[in-house]
Amino acid sequence: MVDNSSSPFQSPVVPEMYDGDKKISFACYKGIQCFNACCKSIDITLTPYDIVRLKQRLGMTSWDFLREYTVPYELEKDGIAAVKFKTRGETTECQFMTEEGCSVYEDRPTACRYYPVALIAMRRQDEYTDTNSFAVVKEEHCLGHREERELTIDEYRAEQGLEDYDELARGWRQLILKKKSSGPAIGKPSLRSRQLFFMASYDMDRFREFVRSEGFHRSFKIDDELYQTLLEDDVELMKFGSRFLQQVLFGEETIPVTEEAREALEERERQAAREQAESSEEKAYDPASEPVDIA
Ligand code: SF4
Ligand code: SF4
Repeated sequence: MVDNSSSPFQSPVVPEMYDGDKKISFACYKGIQCFNACCKSIDITLTPYDIVRLKQRLGMTSWDFLREYTVPYELEKDGIAAVKFKTRGETTECQFMTEEGCSVYEDRPTACRYYPVALIAMRRQDEYTDTNSFAVVKEEHCLGHREERELTIDEYRAEQGLEDYDELARGWRQLILKKKSSGPAIGKPSLRSRQLFFMASYDMDRFREFVRSEGFHRSFKIDDELYQTLLEDDVELMKFGSRFLQQVLFGEETIPVTEEAREALEERERQAAREQAESSEEKAYDPASEPVDIA
């Protein structure tokens, strides 16, 4: 099962794109000849909400889940941290696959729910919101395409519980699209930004520790009710993580900052402006234009 859930343009072949009302003919069920074939060769990127659902189901902390079931990688060349499912031992199969099918079926990730449909999320530089289209992935091993069950892509998404999954991954997808559409001018994010992105996207228990920390409270003003919610609710913390990243990565003030943090930020901006002015003065100085002392 190849994950094309949000980024099919990794392939040089641009797939045919459809709206949600496109009809497909597809069925997957226990007993179909190819049962489990898609879970034997996986390449599945996890969304933040996928991780929350799975770590809750398995009763693990996010960092234990990440260590045991995932591998980190860089999404394209944008310096965006992402995580994939780790496969079982030396094989290419999913660790959750059993003879009976998926052992985490109710909490299976977005990519598994979508397959054989792929979500294509796009955002243009001049647009604030993303737009979604879909593609249909036809792999030889998947016999579900031969079944005579017609339904639209939107009906298929609803059947697979994808409306909630997509809604809850929206903030994270928008951050990625924004980074991609900002192009090379913004450059590769610093190590610190990449670490913050990883923590606030995928590692909710560590992010919660960060929200509890003195450094966080010295920087951000959040009311008691929200603070309490963030301490108790992984999904709310995940949504807050997207707001936090919008602020630290793109400078959009989505969370009010303290006076202390604002003064420090203004001082950093003044310092950066001074450094830039000094460097332009150095560049403007051209020794060849100076008179040469020949005496
Ligand atoms: S999580 Fe379940 S559906 Fe997804 S690849 Fe693994 S076994 Fe298959
Ligand atoms: S029909 Fe396709 S999705 Fe269903 S088990 Fe077979 S290969 Fe997997």
